[in-house]
Amino acid sequence: MSTHPTVGICGAGIGGLSAAIAFKRIGIEAEVFEQTSVFARVGADINLTPNAVRALDGLGVGDELRKTAARPQFRISRMWDTGEETSRLAMSEEAEEKFGAPQLTMHRADLMSALVSRVPDGALHMGKRVENIEFSVGGTTSLAFTDGTSTSVDLLVGADGIHSAVRRAMFGADHPTFTGVVAFRAVIPTEKLSGAADLDCFTKWWGPDPETQIVMFPLNRGRDMFVFATCPQDEWLEESWTTPGSSAELRELYRDFHPDAQAILAACDEVLKSALYVRDPLESWTNGVATLLGDACHPMMPFMAQGAGQAIEDAVVLARCLDGVSDVASALSAYQQSRWERTAQIQRGSRSNEWLKTGGNADWVYGYDAWGASIGLSV
Ligand SMILES: Cc1cc2nc3c(=O)[nH]c(=O)nc-3n(C[C@H](O)[C@H](O)[C@H](O)COP(=O)(O)OP(=O)(O)OC[C@H]3O[C@@H](n4cnc5c(N)ncnc54)[C@H](O)[C@@H]3O)c2cc1C
Repeated sequence: MSTHPTVGICGAGIGGLSAAIAFKRIGIEAEVFEQTSVFARVGADINLTPNAVRALDGLGVGDELRKTAARPQFRISRMWDTGEETSRLAMSEEAEEKFGAPQLTMHRADLMSALVSRVPDGALHMGKRVENIEFSVGGTTSLAFTDGTSTSVDLLVGADGIHSAVRRAMFGADHPTFTGVVAFRAVIPTEKLSGAADLDCFTKWWGPDPETQIVMFPLNRGRDMFVFATCPQDEWLEESWTTPGSSAELRELYRDFHPDAQAILAACDEVLKSALYVRDPLESWTNGVATLLGDACHPMMPFMAQGAGQAIEDAVVLARCLDGVSDVASALSAYQQSRWERTAQIQRGSRSNEWLKTGGNADWVYGYDAWGASIGLSV
């Protein structure tokens, strides 16, 4: 681009921070506006599959992540009652050879710190909640913040998650739907599990119905194990990542699971519980002067562990589409065209929850290279 547009990114989550770094790589200094004042170290994991790690490597954060992440050896599927193994996929050296990167599992806060450390100095504005957005087609977009300040940008990127204010301003109000599924999360020191099998693997125990499952994998270079268990629930009122759950309830819900799975749940002392929400896919993500990425445009169930990965891929592809292009509106169309089909397919796959239940061919998801994939630059 000869003269770069001024770019504002609403939201400093995984997608927004990735976009700021990717933009810097093409010479665009974006400003990132984040509603929270500080990033809290919420007790949550992140499972990054090879496609996500490859995209992050290109952003220059991969080495930092490898310092604390665990590298699961295999991704294993087991049946909840018999323990029968129905799928096994190599995820470490073999995945690196095949997909260009391994799977990494880590504390979400470690990923956030690594991303924040690569965002250009002065670009991240904390405590800036975008409250009002006014578009003028072909002109600048005005942003008003809850602290009474305001700014204007040539290009607005909505990376503000499932409740996106940017999405609402672009396409009108709607609400995410409670899926009828809740998730329990717990972190266990691995030393409490001595003797348990596959502690260096990602294991998914498939339950008696599509929503009931237990996933476990190592964190912190294997010092901790993360447990993620989902099941149906009729009603949910509070939406939060930090609502305490009950370990007794967790054990009771999965009392019929295989003894090996129950032994892991028996070691869970502190449990968090949250509800899973989704939205219907959007037909369009752009309006010529603004676009969306990540959960703002395609929130998905966590059953393929692709929400963050897709947000990171979006960020890379968006920057590539803007690179050297003077017509922003066309670049945004090219971005949407490049990303829509893949993310919609993963959204649908995440909802049906059959991913790698049997068999082990993950090539179309894990083999995607956001830095090299063809992009719809028909502009
Ligand atoms: C239980 C669970 C487990 C998951 N596990 C995985 C996993 O293992 N692997 C994986 O790839 N994905 C996983 N995901 C999905 C993943 O967490 C999300 O897809 C990902 O965080 C989306 O990133 P994002 O940047 O689009 O949105 P978010 O992470 O939601 O970030 C949005 C940011 O915008 C800010 N914001 C919101 N509104 C405003 C505003 N008006 N003004 C300014 N700032 C604003 C928010 O404070 C936030 O910082 C999981 C999701 C859930 C629910």
